[in-house]
Amino acid sequence: MTDDGGDHALAARLAHDCGQRLLGLLSDPSAPQGWGLEKAADRQAHEFLTQELSRHRPGDSVLSEEGHDDRRRLAVERLWILDPLDGSYDFGVTGAWSVHVALCERGVPTAAAVAVPAWGTTFGTDPPSEPTMCRVGRRRVVVARSRGHSDGRRLAASLDADVLTMGSAGVKAMAVVRGEMDAYVHAGGLYEWDVCAPAAVALAAGLHASCADGSPLRFNNPRPYTPGLVICRPDFADELLDALAPVA
Ligand SMILES: [Mg+2]
Repeated sequence: MTDDGGDHALAARLAHDCGQRLLGLLSDPSAPQGWGLEKAADRQAHEFLTQELSRHRPGDSVLSEEGHDDRRRLAVERLWILDPLDGSYDFGVTGAWSVHVALCERGVPTAAAVAVPAWGTTFGTDPPSEPTMCRVGRRRVVVARSRGHSDGRRLAASLDADVLTMGSAGVKAMAVVRGEMDAYVHAGGLYEWDVCAPAAVALAAGLHASCADGSPLRFNNPRPYTPGLVICRPDFADELLDALAPVA
């Protein structure tokens, strides 16, 4: 155990603090507006997280959406995978944005956190997150806005469920973790920084998280890309994966 509480606590603190800084940027009257605000937020969040990690975990490598991928990460055991601002399109517009911090060891996430500042919540891996919303009625599946016409229509046609769209992979995944949604499905490719921390938090919470074909998620691949994602309650996984399977 390090004096910063270990990897789980560090991931949670960094995601939370980064989210608070981003909220501060939103309330700063001197901050740039429009596209400039997104760029400033991405840059400031990336710099904060990478500086903190170089201070607290100087021997570890980092893969960030906003950083240069020098591929030396492929030879290391410990890799932090960061999305400093997931859902930047929604930043300053809605609350559907999040901060992703995950540690992978040999391709497997071992500690992670997702901060959703608009909800006032940071979801971690130890202690694991628990559902806070109790819902009854038809099941609800969330998909990316960009995939409403593909994943959304396909799932609506084959499941007894309402299909909704929402921004930010982290927010969609945490909507499942907190019990607001029953599943998050993305049948196309996603970058590892979109997936890693949300999937790690979901797995720690006892949920199913896999590639869209049901195979286990692995990270720190040469091309940092994940072939789809399904996050759901374990008792819903078979039905969802069947709905996504290629038609024979
Ligand atoms: Mg981002």
